[in-house]
Amino acid sequence: MLKLYNSLTRKKQTFRPINDKKVGLYTCGVTAYYMPHVGNMIAYMKWDVLKRLLIHDGYEVTHVENITDVGHLVSDADTGEDKLRLEAEKEHKSMRETADFYTKAFLEDCRLLNVIPPTVMPKATDHIKDMLDLLEKLDAKGYLYKAQDGIYFDTSKFKGYGKLTGTSFKRLNAELKSGARVEKVEGKRNITDFVVWRFAHGDEKEMIWDSKWGRGFPGWHLECSAMSMKYLGNHFDMHCGGIDHLQIHHPNEIAQSEGATGEKFVNYWLHENFLLMDGQKMSKSLRNIYTINDIVAKGYSPMALRLFLISGQYRQQQNFTFEALTNAENTIKGIYSFLQRVTDTKNKNENSDTKEFKKKMTAYKKKFFKELNDDLNMPAAMANLHAIISETNARSVLNRKESRTVLKALLEIDTVLGLGFDKHVTVKQPLDKEIKKLVDEREEARKRKDFKRSDEIRNMLKEKYHILLEDTDKGVRWYREGYTS
Ligand SMILES: [Zn+2]
Repeated sequence: MLKLYNSLTRKKQTFRPINDKKVGLYTCGVTAYYMPHVGNMIAYMKWDVLKRLLIHDGYEVTHVENITDVGHLVSDADTGEDKLRLEAEKEHKSMRETADFYTKAFLEDCRLLNVIPPTVMPKATDHIKDMLDLLEKLDAKGYLYKAQDGIYFDTSKFKGYGKLTGTSFKRLNAELKSGARVEKVEGKRNITDFVVWRFAHGDEKEMIWDSKWGRGFPGWHLECSAMSMKYLGNHFDMHCGGIDHLQIHHPNEIAQSEGATGEKFVNYWLHENFLLMDGQKMSKSLRNIYTINDIVAKGYSPMALRLFLISGQYRQQQNFTFEALTNAENTIKGIYSFLQRVTDTKNKNENSDTKEFKKKMTAYKKKFFKELNDDLNMPAAMANLHAIISETNARSVLNRKESRTVLKALLEIDTVLGLGFDKHVTVKQPLDKEIKKLVDEREEARKRKDFKRSDEIRNMLKEKYHILLEDTDKGVRWYREGYTS
């Protein structure tokens, strides 16, 4: 049973999907105007583990993740200058070229770090019409108004604004008024109001579109509402993102979506915490920002980085140090050589406590998944993986049966960790042709009632090639005794 901490209710809750064994999952994706660094990638690692766990638990996951390849302003509140445009000008490229370049870089990093690609990865620029359709609905319901630089959403009209953080529209605006400096926009009614359609300045050469309010481009928050609902429906199961989206971006998504449809938008809101760098916030001035390429260039393997990034509980801050990464590198190398050693076990003799050992290993595996199903408690889950390894290592003699139980457990665990264990478990697979020949030979032996030979072949297939035979009405069926099944 999967339990997750839901930001919306501020409680750990048992996950109950809307549709039986299907899960609709949306994760806020990348903004394509800079090289992603390890601090960005941690989010995609944590949600990759969540998705893999859902799949392991038998859910059919539809995962949607947006690519912001359209104007995105400096702050989370979507104010200031357009970052994509600034970057394009700096690089003497078009905004399109810049967005495509960084989108590609992001996808390459995800591939290196073995992130399962989303079911759909919609680009904002391909969905301008969907966004305008959503605005049409909001306009018809009276949520929108015109201010100096664009069309705004009136958050005072949306009942429940701020519910994601357990506050109210009134309280939030009062707090913001007394707090930090707020940028003044002529005609803007409330501090929490946000732009949904920004007017073109007039000097844009690209990435502006026509609308009934004139030429412009969508506000940043709009794309997530429009694209998530397009692919997952008005009401879906899970929405994930960084803790920095909890205050503005996600409340705005809720306001837009629920304002337009009148339905509940998302059941479970999940937020991952930051990655610190040597105990400090990552920043350009501290020169402590590393891209994935920087890490690989220093000689670390992508799988060591993956192991490090997934090793903490997602709601806790995690601290990156090169010492921690070196430890992860040693751990992963240790696991790989362990897998190889266990694979190579030749000893067939049964030990007196083989049954007991197998039971114990299976129990550790179960505990691994139990811990992970408890709000993705990775540190507690990993302790079970290490217990499997250390207790196996502590055995003076390991036999084939035992080694197969260990490998089976670790390969199942790795369907969620995604650390490429399978590449280090070498099972010599005979060609299908060879197996067919042996199966045919056994059939011949059975026909002439030579059961000794027929059994010999059956045992050889099982022992040597891990092939199991099943005698059916329609003849013999054979299949591989999959370690991962
Ligand atoms: Zn989003």
